[in-house]
Amino acid sequence: MTSITNHMPTAELQKLDAAHHMHPFSTNTEIAEKGARVITKAKGVFLTDSEGVEILDAMAGLWCVNIGYGREELAEVAARQMRELPFYNTFFQTSHVPAIALAAKLAELAPGDLNHVFFGSGGSDANDTNLRMVRAYWAMKGQPDRNIVIARKNGYHGSSMGSGSLGGMSAIHSQGGLPIPDIHHINQPHWYAEGGDMSPEDFGLARAQELEAEILKHGEHRVAAFIGEPIQGAGGVIIPPETYWPEIQRICDKYGILLIADEVICGFGRTGNWFGSQTLDIRPDIMTVAKGLSSGYQPIGASIVSDKIASVVDNNEFNHGYTYSGHPVAAAVALENLRILEEENILGHVRETAAPYLAEKWQALTDHPLVGEARICGMMGSIALTPHKETRAKFAADEGTVGLICRTRCFANGLVMRHVGDRMIISPPLVISNGEIDTLITRARLSLDEALAEATDKGLM
Ligand code: PMP
Repeated sequence: MTSITNHMPTAELQKLDAAHHMHPFSTNTEIAEKGARVITKAKGVFLTDSEGVEILDAMAGLWCVNIGYGREELAEVAARQMRELPFYNTFFQTSHVPAIALAAKLAELAPGDLNHVFFGSGGSDANDTNLRMVRAYWAMKGQPDRNIVIARKNGYHGSSMGSGSLGGMSAIHSQGGLPIPDIHHINQPHWYAEGGDMSPEDFGLARAQELEAEILKHGEHRVAAFIGEPIQGAGGVIIPPETYWPEIQRICDKYGILLIADEVICGFGRTGNWFGSQTLDIRPDIMTVAKGLSSGYQPIGASIVSDKIASVVDNNEFNHGYTYSGHPVAAAVALENLRILEEENILGHVRETAAPYLAEKWQALTDHPLVGEARICGMMGSIALTPHKETRAKFAADEGTVGLICRTRCFANGLVMRHVGDRMIISPPLVISNGEIDTLITRARLSLDEALAEATDKGLM
């Protein structure tokens, strides 16, 4: 077989890709027609594709490359760990130093009494752990019927059977018999799309109070937990009204419902604090983490669990675990990533420099005729595209048509910006400089101008 390398012509790589590689969340025949964009290397906030084109990655991969690409230290640590102990499991009363050190470090960083860590390989399987753990917790406490988990429509928690059920995306639920039983979804706090004439504050409160109604509908003795992302990411970077989380917290406290904060995107500096729960003043019983935990350099995720839950679950056998729970190479790389985040004061850079500068430039995009609102928290932002700002109107086309036009224009202009329906979203590496933010905004503006012209030509305005 000929060796397949970066030096192969793009067309040949695309042909092999189309023949053998099934892409996640994609129509593979469409990719085959157009040819996948092949990324060959990356440094800082820039990707390079197989044609040598440089692209500013305003999504940090999939919201994960928090410290930016190309950090040698992580490669060194991985190589060293692979030589010393490439694998050992953490089952059967065994442990190893990387898992011990990373668990202790996460306990130190996590707020409150979140002092216990159960490892997995990413966000989906960590949320599966959470689902099984909260049900096991209540069963171990003699309440086996308390197994309902309440989640939100348009939330995203992964795409396995459990995590895909916790998520509230209809496209995922429409395939494979999801959600599994005893998972229920309330409406999301998405004021721009669903708030109508209500003020954001009243709307946030009303949406949070749906949790109380849902608990009472099933009976509080049936409800194990509520799960939510502090800020919905994949749903479109939806920053909830300020009234939302305090009310959710009050309701969880009142009924003794466990609160799971899915920090897979919000964790490790994305919102300017170590965790989104700190930014939004949430007191979770469990936090799901992944992505920024290793800045995506290794696949690793975890559930960070309170003393209250661990004291019950640790006293009984929890029949759960993955071969790669606490994988030594992934754990060592994650620790090095946390060291860099901490020692280089990257959260300080976000809070004092990058986030304020990006917020100013991002919010100024509302002067563009296509932009209905611009929201941002720390280093995650969204803009809503609309043909009519005052009424927050939708386009005269299927939702996502103009969003896709804009995304395609961005790509052509050397910028990775994602679209969720007709919302454009960003989540750049935390280390982005002000000069690079200027480049991001210049390319975004140009793409918006072009998208406006194309949408107008097509009669979509
Ligand atoms: N939770 C959230 C909030 C996420 O954004 C994601 C991934 N985008 C997941 C869970 C799933 O993580 P993974 O893809 O690593 O399984």
